[in-house]
Amino acid sequence: MTVIAVVGAGVMGVDVAATAAHYGYDVILKDVNRDVLAEAPAIIRRNIRSYRMVSPALKEWKAAEIIDRITFTDTYDGFEKAGWIIENATEDWDVKSAIFKELNGVCSPGAFLAVNTSCISITKLAALVSRPERVIGMHFMNPIPLKEAVETVRAFHTSDETIVASEALLRSMGKTGILVRDFPGFVSNRLSHLFMNEAAFLVQDQVAEPAQIDAIFKQGYAHRMGPLETADLIGLDTVVRSLEVLYQNYQDPKFRCCPLLRQMVDAGLYGRKSGRGFYQY
Ligand code: NAD
Repeated sequence: MTVIAVVGAGVMGVDVAATAAHYGYDVILKDVNRDVLAEAPAIIRRNIRSYRMVSPALKEWKAAEIIDRITFTDTYDGFEKAGWIIENATEDWDVKSAIFKELNGVCSPGAFLAVNTSCISITKLAALVSRPERVIGMHFMNPIPLKEAVETVRAFHTSDETIVASEALLRSMGKTGILVRDFPGFVSNRLSHLFMNEAAFLVQDQVAEPAQIDAIFKQGYAHRMGPLETADLIGLDTVVRSLEVLYQNYQDPKFRCCPLLRQMVDAGLYGRKSGRGFYQY
């Protein structure tokens, strides 16, 4: 059975690790922050409990077995055994580029590298490793255990072999890849960040309360969640960083970040993960 190494144990990393472990993989979960690593097992347990309440299909997910299959670490020990490395670190070029340079030295030549990013160029990250054809974007949807679709991203050098291998990996984890091309924000975030940013402008302009804006999306457009609930779920810090990447890349004012969003992040309101964003948790 392939070993999967997961980099970053934040909102996405813990769910990627738990999903891979549930489907039988041995997982190495690496983060640089020891506090994050210490909390990760409890977060996995809590997440599984709440996902099971929403989806009966997750009844058979056994937290203890899942956590047993994951090695929590702040080193690259064991990465040389991994068939896949799935990178989920902070949405920041300097962070991700440094990791890719390190991965180039520690992974086996036969390993595939997947980047879970909202907006950062897969092609640019792939250029930092000696086998760019084995790098692919794998944009998981949050919360991962409840979402079947994964937006997979073909970068400039991604080989057909890598795409076939990614489809097989995702299938083995109960997921379906939707393959798109590498352009900042891909499909999902190029669209969704416009919604979330404009919804923040509506709050800033005092046109409506967050709950009213979200209600229009849910009751009017039949979306499962409104844009501000979604922003809180993603993490407002990650939303701001993604808007910055979109703005830098397209130089289009439609991606300028709403000042209210930036102010909320400056004030420590990151959404669900900090207990307060547009809503209180
Ligand atoms: P997060 O901020 O919750 O977690 C990032 C983690 O990366 C932190 O625990 C941090 O300590 C760790 N990290 C930082 N530098 C590191 C390093 N050098 N090595 C190892 N770990 C390091 O972020 P997140 O929400 O989990 O997002 C991770 C990635 O997934 C981002 O690129 C984001 O854009 C993307 N993404 C997020 C969502 C979402 O809904 N949150 C959805 C899809 C994709």
